[in-house]
Amino acid sequence: MNARSYIAIEERYGARNYHPLNVVLTRGDGVWVWDVEGKKYLDCLAAYSAVNQGHCHPRLVKVMVEQACRLALTSRAFRNDQLPLLEKELCELIGYEMMLPMNSGAEAVETAIKMARKWGYTVKGVAADQAEIIVCEGNFHGRTVTIITFSSVEKYRDGFGPFTPGFKRIPYGDADALAAAITSNTVAFLVEPIQGEGGVIVPPAGYLQRVREICTARNVLFIADEIQSGLGRTGKMLACEHEGVRPDVVILGKALSGGMYPVSAVLADREVLGVFKPGDHGSTYGGNPLGCAVAREALRIIVDEKLCQRAAELGNYLMAEVRKIQSPHVDFYRGKGLWIGIVLKEEAGGARRFCEALMEKGILAKETHGNVIRLSPPLVITREEIDWAVERLRDVLTMP
Ligand SMILES: *Cc1c(COP(=O)(O)O)cnc(C)c1O
Repeated sequence: MNARSYIAIEERYGARNYHPLNVVLTRGDGVWVWDVEGKKYLDCLAAYSAVNQGHCHPRLVKVMVEQACRLALTSRAFRNDQLPLLEKELCELIGYEMMLPMNSGAEAVETAIKMARKWGYTVKGVAADQAEIIVCEGNFHGRTVTIITFSSVEKYRDGFGPFTPGFKRIPYGDADALAAAITSNTVAFLVEPIQGEGGVIVPPAGYLQRVREICTARNVLFIADEIQSGLGRTGKMLACEHEGVRPDVVILGKALSGGMYPVSAVLADREVLGVFKPGDHGSTYGGNPLGCAVAREALRIIVDEKLCQRAAELGNYLMAEVRKIQSPHVDFYRGKGLWIGIVLKEEAGGARRFCEALMEKGILAKETHGNVIRLSPPLVITREEIDWAVERLRDVLTMP
């Protein structure tokens, strides 16, 4: 079947909650993917950083197949021999006392919200049902009803009310606004160390340090949503490390399973994550042996292949190279590590046409927020592959 036939079937039977580029992929290997007609593309989205380890990493495929043949799902009604090892390895790698496994990123964010509220009532002493959580303008934390409650993107909310009370939004990157917004009912500040879907927005230097100080002083949990920024993307294991801060709670997802299987997690110390008692929270697939085995290997790959260092070095190189492009359409570039937002001028007519032109030339990238082209290739990309990509980016960014 050709691409047109697949697209026609999807148009007929699939809900229209996405507007994908019209490329129908059938195979992937490292940074490369192939469409059903055999054309090869460099993947510069990496499934929103879920595929940091590269497509179909042979070590992940091996573990996935072996574990699938052995034991895939027990539910948490019983124990399995993979979850304890993931718990230990992830806690030791990231530096927290406990973790709680879920599946999607949004579920992990929901978990962190429930945990912060319960911590507020049982540890901080907030009166019943009064807990407040502070979030930022331009945030992206997922798509559940509670999470879209505090989105500032009207499109994400329109038609989905009524919403969940208990959230307050402040400008991103503004620590004074955080200090001013906290009340005695505030239990947590939920923030992305770099806003991904918001358009790869890096906050001002020192922001996360001040957030840390304010949260400590006011007894508010600092929750870092590192689902997209974490696990190497910015050149560190966590983006918060760039400012040397340790959040009270870290949320991981996406690359935690290297694109093989949905695995997410909430990490915190015992005083915080310990508020959950049997029956408080759960998920049928959360912590299943298949996901845990895959996540353990995905983490080992990040360490063994030095993906953090690679992202730092090659990210600097990619940024330096794209900055050399003399484009009439580009306003400015921003980002950290192998995570770059190309911000287009108003007159450029939106990022989508550039993404479509890049696709023609064999590069897959996705626009965010209309006027930003995001580059976030798998972290296993080589310098030669970056050179190849930059040549094509130059052609597209200098077109009329
Ligand atoms: C992708 C993302 C989520 C949601 O993850 P899903 O797996 O799509 O539910 C949450 N937070 C951030 C920062 C993300 O980038």
